[in-house]
Amino acid sequence: MQEHGFSPGWIEIDLRQYKQNLDAIWQAKSAGTKIAVVIKDDAYGHGAVELGRIAGEHGAEFLVVACVGEARELRHAMISTPILVLGERHPSEIAECLQLKVSFTAGSLETLREINARAKTFGNIARVHLKIDSGMNRYGIRWSEIDSVAQEIRGLEQIEVEGVLSHFAMSDELDKTFALLQLNRFERGVEALKQNGITAKYVHICNSGGLLDLPQAHCNLARVGILGLGVYPSKVCRRVEGIAPIMSVKARIAALKQLEPGDCVGYGMRFTAPKPMRIATLGVGYGWGYPRVRNDGAVLVGGQRCPILGGVSMDAITVDVTDVPGVQLWDEAVLLGRQGDAEIDIHEIARLKQSVSYDAMVSWRGRLPRRYLE
Ligand SMILES: *Cc1c(COP(=O)(O)O)cnc(C)c1O
Repeated sequence: MQEHGFSPGWIEIDLRQYKQNLDAIWQAKSAGTKIAVVIKDDAYGHGAVELGRIAGEHGAEFLVVACVGEARELRHAMISTPILVLGERHPSEIAECLQLKVSFTAGSLETLREINARAKTFGNIARVHLKIDSGMNRYGIRWSEIDSVAQEIRGLEQIEVEGVLSHFAMSDELDKTFALLQLNRFERGVEALKQNGITAKYVHICNSGGLLDLPQAHCNLARVGILGLGVYPSKVCRRVEGIAPIMSVKARIAALKQLEPGDCVGYGMRFTAPKPMRIATLGVGYGWGYPRVRNDGAVLVGGQRCPILGGVSMDAITVDVTDVPGVQLWDEAVLLGRQGDAEIDIHEIARLKQSVSYDAMVSWRGRLPRRYLE
């Protein structure tokens, strides 16, 4: 154990497994499809710089982020892989996008005009990925309106339409009806652009779910986020060999206690021992991103599942270690990940949060230092 920089809990990211996941994704894609690796929100809490560097070296066509600040962070870390920024740009962000030499999405005529005007002032060409709204109704020009705006877009001389994209609302569920409708609308939009003389280098609509389940939608680029982290977007989508989670969350046992029958545990006396018990306290809690549950959930100690007793505090979780032989102070406990044959996966944390795996992943707090296993 380190003498300096001790932390009650920490995150481990397995970079070796990350590379294996990227290999598996490259195997799963269609031959003519390139991969844009989505590392928004700090690579879903895994570290955008660390993962982005590896994804770039692995041959990612783009690193994809959600805002300009994230692009800036990658450039400051000397990552030179092309970057695509999603969402819509506020006029004040356009200059920096040009300066950082990033591609960015635009989904309205208004923004496109603004980009064109600003790029002209700087004597630059803006590399834009035009967003077609195929039915999700967040961003993009409605598929049915592409034809009527294409000529004006073509006339915007400072804009290079480098890409055309859309986004699936339901690519990872068994029923693909809506996804196929979206694909059809997208293809019609891409065709309308073509008829008007706009042919983009990149055409893309797939996320992880689409990459797995909709090979007919792979186009020449697919944007893959969660699958690279070793987590499937849903229970029902196709499985690919070699994919495994790369994030674990761990903490050390900071106290061990013996309870007498009738003793209670934690705030609000939410747990009362029915029998003599041995319990362990970890020095992390909801202030570190663990769901604020009571008498639900478990951690792994000694390769066994140990149920959480009472409520999770800001900086403490108490667990039942009565049946784990030989537990010692400062032993390692696993909140997320594997220990021996036992595993707690992100879906289990998501259930405790009453949310989805994506949300569970990004919920760990910055107080948990990240350690990278090479
Ligand atoms: C987040 C995001 C993705 C990646 O989705 P995953 O399900 O994590 O693969 C792709 N495209 C867009 C537009 C996104 O916002």
